[in-house]
Amino acid sequence: MLLIRLDQIEKTYFLGEVTVPVLKGVSLSIEQGEYVALMGASGSGKSTLMNILGCLDRQTSGDYFFEGEELGRAPGDRRAMVRNQKIGFVFQSFNLLPRTSALENVIMPLSYTAEGLSVKECRRRGIEALEKVGLAERIHHTPAQLSGGQQQRVAIARALINHPPVLFADEPTGNLDSHTSVEVMEMFSALNAEGITVILVTHSSEIADYAKRTIRIQDGMILGDKWNRAENRENTL
Ligand code: ADP
Ligand code: MG
Repeated sequence: MLLIRLDQIEKTYFLGEVTVPVLKGVSLSIEQGEYVALMGASGSGKSTLMNILGCLDRQTSGDYFFEGEELGRAPGDRRAMVRNQKIGFVFQSFNLLPRTSALENVIMPLSYTAEGLSVKECRRRGIEALEKVGLAERIHHTPAQLSGGQQQRVAIARALINHPPVLFADEPTGNLDSHTSVEVMEMFSALNAEGITVILVTHSSEIADYAKRTIRIQDGMILGDKWNRAENRENTL
């Protein structure tokens, strides 16, 4: 089933007198259950594209459909609802609250998305999410007491707390060493194997190789779009 469709998306930043065209007519479709890497050099527009795909930012022109609904021009509260219910985000810098336990970090999104849940139920869900990323023994540790890889897994657990069908990750291994990167990428692969759509941004071809499809971006345009696995070769554009 079609999850996201972009049709001739352009994004221009306006900085006073200066206009900065960043996305220059991007069209693409992503099906439910895909595992996609958005790859390109620094400054090519990957994060800008991810923010539009993930309903975090609005396009300047073109159409953005999420599950068939044009959301690029939808009211902010509608967009926020879709984000909260359908999309999880993971970033390069983890974005965890310091001096706050892993469990508290993970259940934080519930305080504004799941009104009416009891404290007990929030904790149960938080523990479940931390178990899923292999951190059941670390629920009371603060970020400073965790390794980089563990912190990123806490961030993944937080992204999963509302059971979103789609997970976006912007350079999720950018702050990690190669050994820890493998651990985090295997986590994304396992989540995709469970049916979660995973869309990740990377400038590294080694990281992109974990995905099943690689979309290459250069100067705000799609340069290539291919399926990585032999069995899907017939889909190669
Ligand atoms: P990437 O993630 O591939 O490194 P970005 O999408 O972050 O690239 O940025 C693409 C281009 O857009 C860069 O030239 C960057 O300077 C510019 N840019 C990104 N965000 C903004 C912004 N908020 N205002 C102005 N220019 C921006
Ligand atoms: Mg970026």
